[in-house]
Amino acid sequence: LAGEIAESIGSRAYCVGGFVRDFFLRVPNFDVDLVVEGDGEELARKMAQHLGGKARIHQRFRTAALMLPDGTKIDIATARTEYYEFPAALPKVEKASIREDMYRRDFTINTLAIALNPDSFGDLIDYFGGRKDLEKGLIRILYNLSFVEDPTRIIRAIRFEQRYKFTIEDDTLRFAKDAIERRLLGKLSYKRIIQELMLLLSEIDPLPALDRIMEIGVWEYMIPEIDLNKVSRTMIKRTPIIITWWEERYYGKNIKGWLVYFMLLLAGLDEELVIQIIKRYHLDNYARKAIQESRQVPQIVEYLWESREILPGEMDQRLDGWSNESMVLLLLSIKDELLWEKLVNYLDLKEQVKVEINGFDLKEMGLKQGPEFRFIFDELYRQKLNGIIKNREEELQMVKK
Ligand code: ATP
Repeated sequence: LAGEIAESIGSRAYCVGGFVRDFFLRVPNFDVDLVVEGDGEELARKMAQHLGGKARIHQRFRTAALMLPDGTKIDIATARTEYYEFPAALPKVEKASIREDMYRRDFTINTLAIALNPDSFGDLIDYFGGRKDLEKGLIRILYNLSFVEDPTRIIRAIRFEQRYKFTIEDDTLRFAKDAIERRLLGKLSYKRIIQELMLLLSEIDPLPALDRIMEIGVWEYMIPEIDLNKVSRTMIKRTPIIITWWEERYYGKNIKGWLVYFMLLLAGLDEELVIQIIKRYHLDNYARKAIQESRQVPQIVEYLWESREILPGEMDQRLDGWSNESMVLLLLSIKDELLWEKLVNYLDLKEQVKVEINGFDLKEMGLKQGPEFRFIFDELYRQKLNGIIKNREEELQMVKK
């Protein structure tokens, strides 16, 4: 359909990037990216009309995000070329052909495109030998100055290399090492560094990539305060297992994987350094709060260990409002089977237990709305977690008492 609509508005549409790469690697990928020679915004609007979705247009970047009723997201961009005013700067953007659009990309394996217009539907466009490199398992830049223009590509190369168990092609590795020696990564803003680190830590198992980052001397440009050799490898290895377990058990409570790894990386640092790092990388409030919680994990583990008879309601006093990510970190830190069961029992109860009465009920009982309401609901919730009261009737009785 995209191809037909593109044809009707005198444009040419292509499916590009990660989706095509992963299609050839037989790796599932649900992020569809289209590039349009012509008018990408118009294509997005027309597709939204036909398919009943919504198109969000970002005029400045000539891109559009199309949300279909079934939840599929399709990113549509007008083909563009980028040039750099100086090394490590953000690129300037201009309209262009599909070839030029592919040429601005990082590695050959990301330059494959599939034509969608009816006259050429399904044709593979491969200007830079991406298909061959996919077969050989090679990460290769498109031109010698690639890493000079954008040193974040060094981190990206390592990420793709480790994700697919590929190899960085010899010349590419030489250029990367050269750029590192010339300290080009030092020119990157903290924002770009943290973006790449977040992507890296969003990999299912980021450990091999972190090892490689250290090996070729990139880590000192990322968060030099953290000594990666001191970070617990066992914990990092267990993380994906616990995250998968959590997401299956508490369906819909998704985890920001990168944040759990980030907390693990910060775990050995002094409070002051942690605060500095949070500020330097402009982490958002959610991440800040979660990291603060994660600092309490060792004490909480000790507390749980010492108070073996603790009831779920008491646990709730300590853990209420905790982010899913800090909760995963707490689970990761527990080695004792009984403690694990206790914590999981509390988390399970949290999913099931709800206070049934509401503010109207309290008012009907003659209580005046005020801060006590919160106190009453908290108390009822905790008594319910403890199994002391079970239903609406018992809740009302308890309030009366
Ligand atoms: P995945 O989402 O599976 O990690 P992706 O290839 O979709 O992989 P994105 O980071 O979403 O990765 O990038 C989309 C496309 O944009 C990539 O195919 C890549 O070619 C290009 N790209 C992203 N960052 C850069 C960069 N710094 N330099 C050049 N091209 C880039």
